[in-house]
Amino acid sequence: MADRQTVKRIADFIEPLRVKPGSRVHLAKDFDPGFKGGMKKREGVELLHTGVKLLAEYQARLAAQDTHGVLMCLQALDAGGKDGTIRHVMSGVNPQGVHVSGFKVPSAEELDHDYLWRYAQRLPARGDIAIFNRSHYEEVLVVRVHPELLDRQKLPPEARGPDLWHHRYRAINDWERHLTENGFRLVKVFLNLSKEEQRRRFLKRIDLPEKNWKFSAADIREREYWDDYQKAFSDMLSATSTPWAPWYVVPADHKWFARICASALLVHTLLDIDPQYPEVDKKTRKALRAAKHDLEAEAPEGAARDPYAAKHRKGRG
Ligand code: ATP
Ligand code: MG
Repeated sequence: MADRQTVKRIADFIEPLRVKPGSRVHLAKDFDPGFKGGMKKREGVELLHTGVKLLAEYQARLAAQDTHGVLMCLQALDAGGKDGTIRHVMSGVNPQGVHVSGFKVPSAEELDHDYLWRYAQRLPARGDIAIFNRSHYEEVLVVRVHPELLDRQKLPPEARGPDLWHHRYRAINDWERHLTENGFRLVKVFLNLSKEEQRRRFLKRIDLPEKNWKFSAADIREREYWDDYQKAFSDMLSATSTPWAPWYVVPADHKWFARICASALLVHTLLDIDPQYPEVDKKTRKALRAAKHDLEAEAPEGAARDPYAAKHRKGRG
């Protein structure tokens, strides 16, 4: 169980990252990708351990309670650190309760449906955590920066009017509201990388042979649209940070700091849901007692009737 001090520490930690619903975001002015909250890496590693431990415990409760689901959406520019963040945040959790889905260029089948269809297929079930590596927000990011992608979406003329982006923001907000009202909580994380740090990470991918596979010429082409992406991200954050599903802008130039933030955000959501192990009713308790009695009676010669209880008693005494 998390104590009150830890809960408060986590809440205070994430507060500066939150995009106030209704505020007008100007990324470059409002959020510093190099921010690390005055923290040293060593303190950060300790906090990440606390986060990973809490996550494991609360994930188990989430699954047991089976009423809520959690969806973490990760958005970033190339080399923003989505993969590493997922790896670190999820270390230590039960893989059966977590599903990671990556979203790339849509397939022909996906383009034959409305643009939210493919994301809806990947939503978490109750009791689960789903992570979207890129998400429905690509529909107002890459598609906005490259509007020619809309041609492939086969929209009828009436769906391509001047209000298209406004309609998409509204549809996304409504969809997320619907999910939230039904017990599915969203954790929306934008890993905010600086242009200089992206340059360094690309160079590292070129210079280190074991990183070559990560490099793609397409990433360099997308980098040329840096300013357009900053604008698309700013507009998206302004329009879709809502009271029910706020955005968090995570400074991503220091990988270790970004990972702590992502972990803290997920933990914060789970603490807020505060899932509990279901209490067994009278009838079940009676059945448990009867089964215990039968199992104890089966104990072979010389063995403890209930080795678990014996060990437990010793531990306490
Ligand atoms: P990594 O490079 O770390 O393996 P990635 O998420 O960048 O992961 P890529 O295969 O490199 O994966 O890129 C996926 C591409 O698909 C991105 O350029 C992204 O913008 C694009 N994409 C995602 N969703 C859409 C969409 N709805 N329409 C068009 N392009 C999309
Ligand atoms: Mg890529």
